[in-house]
Amino acid sequence: MVGGGISGLSAAHYFRKVAGAKARVLILDNHDDFGGHAKRNEFRVGNQFRLGYGGTFSIESPAPYSAVAKALIQELGIDVPSYPQYVSKDLYRSLGLAPNIFFDKETFSSDKLVVNPAPLGATQTADLSSDSNRWKRFMAEAPLTDTAKRDIRRLFEDAADYLPGLSSDDKKAQLARISYAKFLADFVHVDQQVIQLYQALPHPLFGVGIDAVSAQDAWGLGAPGFQGMKLDPAPGKGMNRDAIPNEEAGKYFFHFPDGNASIARLLVRKLIPDAIPGSSVNDIVMARANYAKLDQLSSPIRIRLNSTVVRVKHLGDPVSAQEVEVAYAQGAKVHIVRASHCVLACWHMVIPYICDELPDKQKQALASAAKVPLLYTNVALRNWTSFQKLGASSVYAPGGYHSFMTLDLPVSMGGYQCSRKPEDPIVVHMMKTPCKPGLPARDQHRTGRMELFGTTFETIERNIRDQLARTLGPGGFDPARDISAITVNRWPHGYAYEYNSLWDKFWLEGTETPCEVARKPFGRLAIANADAGAYAYTDSAIDHAYRAVQEIMRS
Ligand SMILES: Cc1cc2nc3c(=O)[nH]c(=O)nc-3n(C[C@H](O)[C@H](O)[C@H](O)COP(=O)(O)OP(=O)(O)OC[C@H]3O[C@@H](n4cnc5c(N)ncnc54)[C@H](O)[C@@H]3O)c2cc1C
Repeated sequence: MVGGGISGLSAAHYFRKVAGAKARVLILDNHDDFGGHAKRNEFRVGNQFRLGYGGTFSIESPAPYSAVAKALIQELGIDVPSYPQYVSKDLYRSLGLAPNIFFDKETFSSDKLVVNPAPLGATQTADLSSDSNRWKRFMAEAPLTDTAKRDIRRLFEDAADYLPGLSSDDKKAQLARISYAKFLADFVHVDQQVIQLYQALPHPLFGVGIDAVSAQDAWGLGAPGFQGMKLDPAPGKGMNRDAIPNEEAGKYFFHFPDGNASIARLLVRKLIPDAIPGSSVNDIVMARANYAKLDQLSSPIRIRLNSTVVRVKHLGDPVSAQEVEVAYAQGAKVHIVRASHCVLACWHMVIPYICDELPDKQKQALASAAKVPLLYTNVALRNWTSFQKLGASSVYAPGGYHSFMTLDLPVSMGGYQCSRKPEDPIVVHMMKTPCKPGLPARDQHRTGRMELFGTTFETIERNIRDQLARTLGPGGFDPARDISAITVNRWPHGYAYEYNSLWDKFWLEGTETPCEVARKPFGRLAIANADAGAYAYTDSAIDHAYRAVQEIMRS
């Protein structure tokens, strides 16, 4: 297996199931940890232990998990419906905390933290009169011009049809071809400040702002402005799967204190029991992995870290070859291993560089999967009294270095205790998407990746301290005193690229997608990874691992 993320680990699991317990599998990964995007961050603040998610946050997906993915989750012992017993769902609300917006002086003329009257998703049904307190405070305190405030009111309250005379299908077709920013500017005619306010809202989902998200997707996500447009609720052509509401999928949610790193750890324990002690889904949370056990000669399954695969090729004609040769670099040395089959569970854009023998059309399709870059920052604070004083549980910062920050989701399980009192240490999760508004989405991702590569930790740390001080300072926050530790998780190759009706004609037209071309098996090679579904979710990584193993068993 090339790649030790959830896809490579799942592929090893499925392969062993069909090939038998004696089947030998080598998993190679370039990183110094397994799990790929499913990454655990650990902190010790005083005598308290805190966990955070450095990448994948939770079991969730906009569309329901397939039977295959659900079965694996169950096999790992995760009982998704039991999640409410671990989470203190109302903790922050019971302390009077709510989502806020931080207006920064560079974008909005003054620094100001204001309650968020309508977090995205709740907006379409937002009734300004029913939640008038929040709206009143927002309108009184937000450092926006009177025109912008009037336009916000209009955006939520008007029942205007901005595409009169068209059928619902024709409206959706048009909305699929314009960005939400353009819709707001050219159809709703809102003030520029309103566009600036909404610009970063889709960052967590898509890694780009509203300049690169279609108006149709914004409608699906519950953004305001569509209430008078009489759009039939069925998804329109070219909608992103993230933007299609699905009640069944919405109920399938589970968050471990370290995110889906627990899934990776459960998989590793299943594959190499010696490497992670314990036997239950709960005890995985605090279990200490023994990395020395990952790559032992005596084990039929081995995980070799710090090993970058540099070439994969059949030994002979791919049609008749009996073996595949895989070359990988460890430090300055290149090693070679041979296998009967190879699953490429790494990022698709890497595959054309390491696997020259694939057909050109397939290489092109693989290369088009430009991953979405993201920065996931975890800051361990000695306490969160400033959040409490300010009444904030999370902050959306449209002009901030990080566009979102949030107090850790309070989940306790397997002996791990989350922070419950504002005086106790906590992990604050901050998220930035390095993108370049105005460019097509893939170019924004490439530019953002270069920004991530070129930014020093010192610069990121300075921005973190500055942003926290400006946001929380009025609540008594002092970065020098209150920050205990910072972990910056850079994901230059983050989310799988999801197709977008603004740039991807095939997606609008319903013709063959690049990921279908990219994932075709070739000789003794099969291709997995979440990229194979152009879908940035754990279930995609699992589903395509399963498919890839079925394919190699047939070859
Ligand atoms: C920041 C972030 C947050 C996310 N949040 C969620 C979430 O909340 N819920 C959800 O369902 N999904 C989420 N996702 C998506 C989900 O994490 C992924 O879909 C899934 O984990 C991908 O697994 P994978 O094995 O396909 O790929 P990866 O996790 O990327 O694993 C591939 C591995 O291959 C390695 N590799 C690449 N090239 C080589 C090479 N040449 N040699 C050796 N190894 C190589 C990589 O370093 C990596 O370790 C998130 C993704 C990111 C980046």
